[in-house]
Parts: sequence; structure tokens; C-alpha cells
Amino acid sequence: MTPKIARFLDVHQPATPCLVLDIDRVEENYNALRRALPLATIYYAVKANPARPVLDRLTGLGSAFDAAGIEEIEQCLAVGAPPAAISFGNTIKKASAIARAHALGVDLFAFDSEEELRKLARMAPGTRVYCRLMVANAGADWPLSKKFGTSVEQARRLMPLAAELGLRPWGLSFHVGSQQTDPLAYAAAIGQAAMLFTDLSDSGTDLRFLNLGGGFPSRYRRAVPAVGDFADAIMEAMTRHFGNALPDMAIEPGRAIVGSAGVVSSEVVLVSKRNPDPAAARWVYLDIGRFGGLAETEGEAIRYPLRTRHDGGPTGPVVLAGPTCDGADILYESSDYQLPLALADGDRVEIDTAGAYVTTYAAQGFNGFAPLAEHYI
Ligand SMILES: *Cc1c(COP(=O)(O)O)cnc(C)c1O
Repeated sequence: MTPKIARFLDVHQPATPCLVLDIDRVEENYNALRRALPLATIYYAVKANPARPVLDRLTGLGSAFDAAGIEEIEQCLAVGAPPAAISFGNTIKKASAIARAHALGVDLFAFDSEEELRKLARMAPGTRVYCRLMVANAGADWPLSKKFGTSVEQARRLMPLAAELGLRPWGLSFHVGSQQTDPLAYAAAIGQAAMLFTDLSDSGTDLRFLNLGGGFPSRYRRAVPAVGDFADAIMEAMTRHFGNALPDMAIEPGRAIVGSAGVVSSEVVLVSKRNPDPAAARWVYLDIGRFGGLAETEGEAIRYPLRTRHDGGPTGPVVLAGPTCDGADILYESSDYQLPLALADGDRVEIDTAGAYVTTYAAQGFNGFAPLAEHYI
């Protein structure tokens, strides 16, 4: 939690649940990545938090944007981002969305199948396209590999086809999985992509763009390698595989830009001792859960640090759950969460490092609850 957020919560005591996000921290995170990887263009993954103040600040800093849908593209354009700074990075796009993006001047599109490539040729002729490879997602707490990406063999066939279809075969991309804690995951993927660059070049298709995706982690309950460790692993692999013929590099951080900039402030609705055994965990129900925006607690994948005003006192084990009438609305029961014994209903619980993938995952009125309130400071 940044000092600015702590002050805001203290002074304003905003109604819960709400996200409070420190825009200066967004800038610091952006600058840290910029400094660590000066050769890479940063395409902020808009889906992590598409709020206007975030896009505004990043546009001012010269960031480019990775958009998942046409609405995100329009949100970026609305804050003054030039179309040339926008990549339509979703490999699954409606034909109408491609046509609209093309009409708005977007000129960089991802694909991972022949069908999508033909769709791009039809709806956005002459544009630059890059193929997303499927790479290992080991080491990631929120893997993405199963749904996206294609094999090296397929990509080797599709890139020349892109040219035949009147598109410009621009490069390759991958995503090593979100909340990736192993810097070497990037190195392995770079090695795969580099071999394909060489194969394609030998057969007459020269690529010039390598998009390393997102995945850079936030610090939740456990320490993660520093941005510099990722940058070192990436640049070491780039120079080892490409020598001094480096392609244009891109990264698409989402979590690493906004995650640590936000806190979700919540209130305890009920603490209940459902099992009379004194050693048993208490159940703590908050006014936000899986459906209020904490969707990444699915499988207890993302484990947010929690703070309360009783911190420092004696603690005991808890099961943490949301407020809805849904049996799936349990946040943590096997991740060893401990909270103060003094915790009672009405107390606030601050959910730290919650600036990414929260507001957009909040349900619209499930059980009557309003979407998550947002404060950008
Ligand atoms: C979600 C996504 C990202 C952002 O991933 P983070 O792990 O939040 O950095 C980047 N690129 C693509 C294509 C994505 O789908």
C-alpha cells in the first residue's frame, strides 16, 4: 500500500468495497520497466485495468497499448493514444471488430490460427500481423497457454501464407503465463522464437518484431524476482539467439503496471465459528468475493496480502469467503490465511496489491451488489 493510498483511506474512509489506486505508482511501475528494458516498446495490457486515469497517465508517458477488444481500442483512442500505438492482441476477434479497428487506423494484429489469419486478410487487408506461439507456462500462477498460441510448425506455415494473403508478416509473440515467477521462462520462449525467425528468413520471410507478452509478476504474499532479473534473463537470451540483429522488441505488461498500485478496501460482514473445535478455522465473510472482482482467487491462484487494524495481535486460521449466496464464493481455505483473533464484523480488511484484474472482473448486480467502486488518486 502506498502512503498516498493509506492517507486516502484514513481521511476519506470510503464506502466499501472499493478499489483505491495510486496513479503515481502506475507511472513508477511503467518507468521501472522502461529503464530495465529500454529496447522494448511497452504495450500496456489494457484489460488489467482500463480506467481512464490509468490510460491517461500511460498515454502521457508515451506507452503503447495491447487491446483485447474493440471497446478497449476505443478507450485508448479516447485518451489520445495514436492508432499506431495500439496492437489488437487478442487472437479471437469478431470480423466486425477487426474491420472497425482497421477503419480507426489500427495496423497491428495478433493471430494463432489459419482461420483468424484469413479473417484478418479479409477485414484488414495490408496490415501487419504477428503469430502467437504456444510456449510453456510453468512457473506462472495464472497460466494462459492452453487457450492460446500455435505450434512452431504451424507458425512456420502461416507466416508465408500471411504474405500470400496480402498481409505483412511482421513477427511473433508469446505469453509465458501471468504472474510468472521464473525469469528463465522468457529465455526459453525467446530461444524457440529465434529458431523460427531463422527458419523463416532462410525460406524468404523476414520477420522484424518479437512480442514477449506480459507475465511480469507482482509481489503478493511471497517475494518475486526483481524487474531487473527479468530484464537480464531476457536480454541475455536475446543477444545469445539474435546476436546484433535484434528484432524490434515489445512487452505487454498488465499486472506489473497496475497490480501494486491498488488496494481493495473491504469490510467484514461476519466472523463465524462454524466448528466448535477451538483449533478450527473461523469463517470470515467479506463484503467482496469471487463475484465482486476477486476472480483471480479461483483455485486460490492469486493470494493477496491482507491488512487489518488489529495486525500485530494474536492470530488464528481463517477461511475467507465473499458475501454472495453462491457456494463457489470462497476465496481461500487451503492457503494458510491467518487473521487477528480480535477481528469482528464492521472491521475493515485492506486487500493489498489488488490494482490488476479486479474492477473488470466484478459482476453486474449479482445478488444485488453494485459493481466495485473505484477511486483513482
Ligand atoms: C493478459 C495479457 C497480457 C497481460 O498479462 P500480465 O500477466 O498481466 O502482464 C499481455 N498480453 C496478452 C496477449 C494478454 O492476453
